[in-house]
Amino acid sequence: MFQNLRVRLLLSYLIVMEAILILFSGGIYFLFSRSLSRQLDNKLMTLAEVVAPTFSQVKHQGTQYFTQLGNDNLFNSKTQAIEWFDSEKRRLGSHGNLVVPFEPQPGLLTLYSSKRSSSSRIRTITLSVSLNSSNFQQSSLKGYIRISQSLTELEAEKNQLLLNLVIATLATLGLVTLGGFWLTENAVKPIEKSVQQQKQFTADASHELRGPLTAIKASIDIMSRHPERLHDKDLRKVGAIASATEQMIHLVEDLLFLARTDTPNLQSNPKWTQIMLNNLLQDLVDLLEPLAQEKKITLDYQDLDKVWVMGNEGQLKRLFSNLIYNALNYTPAEGFVMIRLLQNNRWAKVSVKDTGIGIHSKDLPHIFDRFWRADKVRHRSGGTGLGLSIAQSIAHYHRGKITVESQIGIGSYFEVIIPILEIKKSY
Ligand code: ADP
Repeated sequence: MFQNLRVRLLLSYLIVMEAILILFSGGIYFLFSRSLSRQLDNKLMTLAEVVAPTFSQVKHQGTQYFTQLGNDNLFNSKTQAIEWFDSEKRRLGSHGNLVVPFEPQPGLLTLYSSKRSSSSRIRTITLSVSLNSSNFQQSSLKGYIRISQSLTELEAEKNQLLLNLVIATLATLGLVTLGGFWLTENAVKPIEKSVQQQKQFTADASHELRGPLTAIKASIDIMSRHPERLHDKDLRKVGAIASATEQMIHLVEDLLFLARTDTPNLQSNPKWTQIMLNNLLQDLVDLLEPLAQEKKITLDYQDLDKVWVMGNEGQLKRLFSNLIYNALNYTPAEGFVMIRLLQNNRWAKVSVKDTGIGIHSKDLPHIFDRFWRADKVRHRSGGTGLGLSIAQSIAHYHRGKITVESQIGIGSYFEVIIPILEIKKSY
């Protein structure tokens, strides 16, 4: 139960943390790339502004006198190019090694010098150079200046950033997983402890209550043995106290039993022996036959095979008596309760079928829950709602299982399977 809780907690924690990390890294990558692109555009713009006044000089003398820019912070001849064009977009001259095989187009542009590779991208800024004619207040186009920059370095920088972010995200995820284990363990421990304490408390309280209840029962038994000492009215009260005490002892024992099966260190390791189920069931039927007769119910038992199992006799008796007792309890007069025993492969199969009130399909998933009782029987005296939980616990303890089918107004069918002796021997 707690292992499941641990895994679910850890998974939810990891999914949330992973989503946050991926969003965070994606955000950093996006912002940083945008900032790098903007820086590049600003750099190109500055360079264009510096170069613009040289247009006339280059137009008349060519680029051989163009010595203004060397390889410094602003211009890198390996990855950048400055080009001058006339108004017909014919190249007048160029500076730098980068080749841009396109016509100039005014504005900022990203061009692909080869179709597929993103490393062949070039960012260009093209300025129109014009001359103001003072007579007509009109400007006439003299040509263009284009500054280009290969984006290879920028892409490499972005790829490096992406790689670093992926490595950092994976490393953080590793740490988050370790932290997750630690956090989950710390979150589950107090719950586990509190459930453990609750079980211990139930076990202790049931154990402590058993003593006084047995004392009360003994006193009532003595009083009942001398009815002449009691008033008629008191006799009825003593009878009521005796039955209530009986019921409480039953409840306390059931609680103690469940607390012990829940908590491995509380289990008293009941003795396992070889048991012939045929005899065990026959004994139970003999014991409950008077109750069946009293309720005018036909109790029918048939065994088709001789079946041996390994287990605890007291517990198995309790399992089957709970089922048979329920069948008798929830079947009206003139009904039938049929018990069958057979061996199916390596399993002993015991079924208890009745023609009783049945269980609603919506209630079926709950009938093995502790203290669960169907509404219509909730107010009837006798039951505690623990009988089937105990039956299931015992079946599981014997490495078996218990299943149920039922239909309202038609009846119920409970089936218990337990491994037969050959399998048990290997334990
Ligand atoms: P209880 O002490 O109430 O019998 P159980 O755990 O044995 O507690 O059963 C839980 C509930 O399951 C019962 O209250 C009843 O509603 C339903 N139930 C169990 N066995 C039968 C049956 N054979 N027929 C109809 N209802 C049943």
